[in-house]
Amino acid sequence: MPIRVDLHTHSIASDGTLSPTQLVEYAARQGVEMLALTDHDETAGIAEASEVAAQHGIQLIPGLELSVTWNGATVHIVGLNIDAENPVLQAGLQSLREFRHWRAEEIGRRLEKKGIGGAYEAACEKAQGSILSRTHFAHFLVEAGHAKNVRDVFKKFLVQGKPGHVPGQWAGLEEGLSWIQGAGGHAVIAHPARYRMTNTRLRRLIGEFKGFGGEAIEVISGSHSRDDAMLMARYAQQFELAASSGSDYHGPENPWIELGALPELPDGCEPVWSKWAAQ
Ligand code: AMP
Ligand code: MN
Ligand code: MN
Ligand code: MN
Repeated sequence: MPIRVDLHTHSIASDGTLSPTQLVEYAARQGVEMLALTDHDETAGIAEASEVAAQHGIQLIPGLELSVTWNGATVHIVGLNIDAENPVLQAGLQSLREFRHWRAEEIGRRLEKKGIGGAYEAACEKAQGSILSRTHFAHFLVEAGHAKNVRDVFKKFLVQGKPGHVPGQWAGLEEGLSWIQGAGGHAVIAHPARYRMTNTRLRRLIGEFKGFGGEAIEVISGSHSRDDAMLMARYAQQFELAASSGSDYHGPENPWIELGALPELPDGCEPVWSKWAAQ
């Protein structure tokens, strides 16, 4: 029997809504045997998650989801089995959090010009000292009645061309991979089918990622269709990359994504976690 894994999840250390303890307890109820906590540009939840996971006999993989800019597009790279104490990694994350802080102030200013006041302060209140994400703005804008749900708010305010969108630079692809690898981790392209890239461009991304020592792509993701998974399985094999599987769970508020209830990898995929599985 393959083990039950979920290698892409968020807690309140970034834009998830469960604490690391609540997340791990829920994973235990879901029968997850190997769980990665992969908060955006942040590792603050890992210590708590590891402690609770040990009590439940869950193998906790320390991870993160790094924001990267590649040829003008934002791409997410999951780092798995990292040493979260690594100073170069932490310095890099600190620079991304500073950019997030400046960007949040700028989003606040831009929304203010559109007649929506207090958004920056409200987002800070929601983030509670953790990283500032567009998701925090989204929750405020829904509550303030500017959109009917989080998806709608992104469409109306937070994506390219909309008033709350602030372009900027995250880490470079090579740089981001060097932080993950320097911390002993394995790099995985997160939800590759979600970038709305042409197949040619996506193949170029995967090729460059592989060239910089990237090891896997998410074949199974909460935001992939069956067809997406089959295509990504093919790419993994063509580029000789391992395959990962993660829900991208953010909490019970997004009921369309469940924790730890993922389909098996398609035949022929090499699971990225096979080297770490205990026993
Ligand atoms: P950020 O890293 O602050 O730019 O925020 C990106 C986060 O916003 C993602 O990790 C998702 O959790 C969330 N997000 C992005 N696009 C959407 C969308 N269309 N609907 C709902 N959530 C989204
Ligand atoms: Mn998120
Ligand atoms: Mn992502
Ligand atoms: Mn994610």
